[in-house]
Formats: sequence, structure tokens, C-alpha cells
Amino acid sequence: MDNAGGSGAGGSGVLAPPPPIEPVTYMCGDCGTDNSLKPGDVIQCRECGYRILYKKRTRRIVQYEAR
Ligand SMILES: [Zn+2]
Repeated sequence: MDNAGGSGAGGSGVLAPPPPIEPVTYMCGDCGTDNSLKPGDVIQCRECGYRILYKKRTRRIVQYEAR
């Protein structure tokens, strides 16, 4: 069986691309360096190793995809 009919445009349960992971910017509680961390990253300053980071209030655009 050669199943190479439509090249991905079928849309019947094909693998959807994973949602993009947006890094969150944290500010170090000690030296104030911005650290962009992804979900799952260790919460630790890259500059001084301080482990208390504050989440910055980022004005990011939340966009919803209307399907
Ligand atoms: Zn730091």
C-alpha cells in the first residue's frame, strides 16, 4: 500500500505541530539580570547562580487562533 496520496493537506488526524514554547523572562533577585527560562528549566540566575527569580510583567501579545 502506497499511502502517499495527499501530502499532508488531508487533515484527518495528522500530527499537529506542537505549540511554540514561549520563554518567560525572570529577573534575578540578587543581581537583577534578566533570565529567559523555558518551562522546565531550572529557576536559577545564569549570571550569579541565585535561585530566586522574579517573573517580570511582560507585555506580551496573547493571540488566539480562531479556527
Ligand atoms: Zn543573578
